[in-house]
Amino acid sequence: MDQTHVDGDLELDQTLFTEEQITTRLREIAREIEKDYDGRDLLLVGVLKGAVMVMADLARSLDRHVEMDWMAVSSYGSGTKSSGVVRILKDLDTDLNGRHVLIVEDIIDTGLTLSWLITNLKSRGPASVEIATLLRKPEAQQMDVAVKYVGFDIPNAFVVGYGLDFNEKYRNLRCIGTLAPHIYS
Ligand code: 5GP
Repeated sequence: MDQTHVDGDLELDQTLFTEEQITTRLREIAREIEKDYDGRDLLLVGVLKGAVMVMADLARSLDRHVEMDWMAVSSYGSGTKSSGVVRILKDLDTDLNGRHVLIVEDIIDTGLTLSWLITNLKSRGPASVEIATLLRKPEAQQMDVAVKYVGFDIPNAFVVGYGLDFNEKYRNLRCIGTLAPHIYS
């Protein structure tokens, strides 16, 4: 669905990325990835469920072979903030030993979930672990871990669409927008 189907749910004057803007940016990132991983096998690891759309479009933008695998994690937190205490709901099927791993994320907020994930994946003996995220919020920029590929840096607002949900809805929205406060208050 597109914006017309959720009329009034989004703040139209806030952060908003159209399907076309997202596609264009992911294609640019795909060219960088092709260059950086030239001659090396690449395993994309998507974090369920939010990264489904990013993974689908980024992987198809890559003009080379890649493997794809998925993890599902749940982060214990109070309210809307994660705590960094993470539980694996679905683990990878792939052995990471000697592999070049690129984690594909939808959004990084505090970065706590991701920090935990990187430590966990690095303990499995991969050749390298890097991160690609479509969106990054300000707090994540102070993270210790470097994020190699960032689609867009956005302000501190709650966004939905293109895989990102509110109460499991809006994931199938083609664009990304800021949720209007009357929806969650
Ligand atoms: P972090 O550990 O970086 O604080 O949490 C990242 C996770 O929080 C994301 O994978 C996502 O599930 C959720 N999250 C953070 N900010 C937003 C947002 O603006 N919108 C939505 N829908 N989820 C968010």
